[in-house]
Amino acid sequence: MKLYTKCPSCKSDFNLTKTYNTRPDLIADKGEYFNLNCSKCGTANEYHANDIKAKESYFTNFLGTILGLLVILITTKLMWNQGIISNVGLIIGGSIIAASNYSSLTSNVNAFNRYRATRVPKQNINK
Ligand SMILES: [Zn+2]
Repeated sequence: MKLYTKCPSCKSDFNLTKTYNTRPDLIADKGEYFNLNCSKCGTANEYHANDIKAKESYFTNFLGTILGLLVILITTKLMWNQGIISNVGLIIGGSIIAASNYSSLTSNVNAFNRYRATRVPKQNINK
């Protein structure tokens, strides 16, 4: 999972250097308001914790997909060598692929994006 936000200066998305599993973790570490330097244009801007969004890092899904494809290939080849034409490999491999893409899409990313901090007006924070 990666956390990113949109830079108001150059309008491009950039990733946070640190990743938190939940928005409260992010707030506990950085506070509700914090400054971030855009990795694209270098401009420092102030962000609210709710401005941060989570997305799946495709690398994890990619690994799961590769693993699933390997299982399909190996199982199918083993079965084939034994004279059995079977879709067992397809089923197992397919479920690995589905699980690796599905679980990551539903778990942390959704939880992070669903959770919204109650936005405290900034001028009241230090009173
Ligand atoms: Zn920027």
